[in-house]
Amino acid sequence: MKLERILPFARQLLEQAVSRGDIVVDATLGNGHDALFLAQLVGDSGRVYGFDIQEEALNHSMERLREHQLLERVTFFQKGHEHVSNSIPPIHHGRITGAIFNLGYLPGGDKTIVTKPDTTISAIDQLLEMMAPEGIIILVIYHGHIEGAVERDYLLRYVKGIDQKRAHVLQYQFINQKNNPPFIVAIEKR
Ligand code: SAM
Repeated sequence: MKLERILPFARQLLEQAVSRGDIVVDATLGNGHDALFLAQLVGDSGRVYGFDIQEEALNHSMERLREHQLLERVTFFQKGHEHVSNSIPPIHHGRITGAIFNLGYLPGGDKTIVTKPDTTISAIDQLLEMMAPEGIIILVIYHGHIEGAVERDYLLRYVKGIDQKRAHVLQYQFINQKNNPPFIVAIEKR
């Protein structure tokens, strides 16, 4: 298949937006796959800020980064991404070039703990203020579970309402696949 699949496309967008030495955000650490990818992208002079509300996710993510000897590039918070603005030091505001939200529940974890529309939207809104121009926020939206479908509807309404002078907003989705596979919304700050 020549069309890029969803997760590789998310990473391709981040690769385009992020350079060595940059500041980036993993808004939903989960098992730390995205945090590891981001830590490799920013190099040893960059920094990855990561958020998750579950201790289990923090532990898995720390372990993954430790295995790759990249722990010194990351700062992880066990708190919701809705606290992003007052968690990232002011000196790094305006320097964030990439952020990713992999929404839904922790794979292999408690499926009742899911991301929620109001806190997700609050975090996106704060990040949009804090990004560098041409910085990209990626949302990977899982809408195969009930809460995910609700979150999808709120998020699409919110992102469609972002002023086009403030950001470019792209939706990337396979529209003829069964079982509601995830899709991407990418928001590029202008
Ligand atoms: N990116 C992850 C990876 O690479 O493995 C997968 C993320 S998983 C789909 C979603 C995560 O979001 C869960 O670990 C969950 O605990 C977390 N989460 C839920 N609400 C959150 C919030 N308000 N702030 C930050 N993380 C949250």
